Formats: sequence, C-alpha cells, structure tokens
Amino acid sequence: MAYLTLQGINKIYPNGFHAVHNFNLEIEKGEFIVFVGSSGCGKSTTLRMIAGLENISSGDFLINGERANEKGPRERGIAMVFQSYALYPHMTVYDNLAFGLTLEGVDDDVIEDRVNKTAKILGLTDYLDRFPRALSGGQRQRVAVGRAIIRKVEIFLMDEPLSNLDAKQRVTMRSEITQIHRETGATTIYVTHDQTEAMTMADRIVVMKLGYIQQVGTPYDLYFNPANLFVAGFIGEPPMNFIESTVNDGKLNINDNIVDLVAIADKEVIDKYEHEEVVLGFRPEAVKLVGKGEVRNAFTFNCTVELTELLGDNTNVYVDIRGVKAILKVEPHDSPAIDSKLQFAVPFESIYLFDKATEKRIKLRNS
Ligand code: ADP
Ligand code: MG
Repeated sequence: MAYLTLQGINKIYPNGFHAVHNFNLEIEKGEFIVFVGSSGCGKSTTLRMIAGLENISSGDFLINGERANEKGPRERGIAMVFQSYALYPHMTVYDNLAFGLTLEGVDDDVIEDRVNKTAKILGLTDYLDRFPRALSGGQRQRVAVGRAIIRKVEIFLMDEPLSNLDAKQRVTMRSEITQIHRETGATTIYVTHDQTEAMTMADRIVVMKLGYIQQVGTPYDLYFNPANLFVAGFIGEPPMNFIESTVNDGKLNINDNIVDLVAIADKEVIDKYEHEEVVLGFRPEAVKLVGKGEVRNAFTFNCTVELTELLGDNTNVYVDIRGVKAILKVEPHDSPAIDSKLQFAVPFESIYLFDKATEKRIKLRNS
C-alpha cells in the first residue's frame, strides 16, 4: 500500500472555480515528488489540500491507508516551507528554529541540541543570534527550511521555496535540499514552475496543466517518453522543436524535406494517419550537423541559420527551414555563420510524432 494516496481529488473554490480535476497519485514512503507546471495550474492548491490548509472538495486523501481529509494540519505530521519565508521578524534565527518545538512542549535541552544540529546542516551556526532582517535571501530561506526539518516530521511540503533566490543561490539550495532529503528520508512533495528544478531533484515528477495531471513519471521517462505535446514541450531546455505537417502517401513534406514514415512507424500507424495532421518533434540536442557525407538512419533537413547563441558548453542555433523555425544545439566549435545554409540530421530514434488533434504521442517503432 502506498504511503500517501490521492484518489479522485477535486478542488472547487467557493467562487465556483474548478482548480484541480480528478487528481490521482500514489506516493511511496521517502519519495521526492515534484509537482511542476505553469503558474495557475493548481500546484499550490493541491499541496495545500495535502497540508490540510485548504479543504478537499471531493475525493480521498489517505496517509498510510487511513483517510486524512478531515485531519487538521498538525495531526497530519506535515511540515511546510513556503515561497515567502514567513519567518518571525522579531525573533532570532535560534528562536525561529526553536519556535515549533517550543509550541510542542519539547524540553529546552532537546531543543538546543536540535537547533544546533539543524543549524549545522544548513550552515547557520554563525547566525543563530541574528534577526531575519540581517540575513541574505538565501540565509532566510535556509532558516525557513530549517524550521521544517527541525520538527522531524515524516512529510515535507515545499511550495516554490527557491523562487525568491538568485540563480546561483537556487542551484546551491537545490542540491542542499536534495541532500537534506537523503539524510532525513522524509517523504517530500516539492512544487515548482521550473522544469530544471523538477528534473534535477525529483524521484518522480507530476506535470500539471490547467488543473489536470498530464503525466507522472521519472525525469528520464518524461524526457524520453513524453505522453503528449505539452509534456514534450515543457521538459527540456531549449524546448523540443515541433513541426506541423500532414501525412501524404505515408510521408511528411516539410518544405521539400521529406520524412518517410515507413522508416519509423508501423504500417497500421501510417495508414491511420494518412491525410491527418500530425506534429513532428525532435529535441535541439538530438541533431547532428551533416557534412558532405551520407548520414544513415536519420532524416535530414536543409535550413538557413538565423541566429547563434554561444553558451560555452554548447551553441544554440536558431534556424529557418523555409518558414518553419527550429533550434539546434551544437558543439561550440561547430557554430555556423549567420545566414549560412546548413544541413542537419535527426536520427530515427530521436524523432517524435504527435496526433495534432488529441496532442497525444503516436507510438513509433523506437518508442
Ligand atoms: P499554481 O500554484 O500552480 O500557480 P494555484 O493552485 O495557486 O496555482 O491556483 C490554481 C488556480 O486556482 C488559479 O487559476 C488560481 O487563480 C485559482 N485560485 C487559487 N486560489 C483561489 C481562491 N481562493 N479562489 C478562487 N480561485 C483560486
Ligand atoms: Mg503556486
């Protein structure tokens, strides 16, 4: 039996807005789960229902198989970290960390021991006497995380805890939170709109859009086996390239670049989509630049270079395939000149196809 179970959960706000639709998820003890999706897709609402801060309109929330819908936040054994740090400004770091334990009536010497241990994990030992206003954003966020982990609860919920930090601090805190999770073993649900955070931190990711789960899977699954156009476009940076086309005689004609589907799809699939609109997808990092020689087991495309961005470890090349735009990721030493003509290849196994009407991924031989 799963540790946490969300069964057919819906949230309808008092104003009638249906924010979360039929949310189903089973979470194992100790997992690090990330809810990811654009702003307004229902991540915080779902998290707050799990925390007991927002009532569940319908459906069941179970902890260890036991219905917890009606349990209060404290009874659920959950600690939550918010985007705004919500520290007590008139209390020192020590007292901010100790506060929850004091409320629970824990002995002073136990509190002191736990505060010191928590401060050590988070690098706050030298700041225990300071007030929040005398801390940097990163340090404040550490105190907020510290207040959650000091309570030794089994479940951590974090709602965009890094979004107030600068890019460098975010990367540091990302690995610190992963490390804390490894040390505490607490089941963690982490909310973010940032796909990189999701990919780097999660055991499993839940991708959401407009209140609906789009896909649940490991970072590897979502990257290589996206269920639909939304997930394919959301995971990966720069995003997957999409080219709309119609199947004719089992082929796609993308401005004179021919994609013969017989190379990648079974006959019944090709027949099913004859005269239908599909979306071809390939990731910027999947392309290979073509010299004069032949490239095997790949489709080739002719394009014109419009813009290049040297990023150090790679170059993003913005190309035009006679009206269709795409981004290619190439070695920095292969950066092509602007306005030059380029031929690139996409290996068969890196090609994705989506049904344009349903947006679902079409099963190919490689998938
Ligand atoms: P996210 O955290 O993914 O950005 P939220 O869960 O905060 O999204 O919000 C999901 C949707 O519910 C949004 O459209 C938001 O405007 C709406 N919403 C949030 N809180 C309320 C509320 N108290 N009353 C009505 N609608 C709300
Ligand atoms: Mg939110």
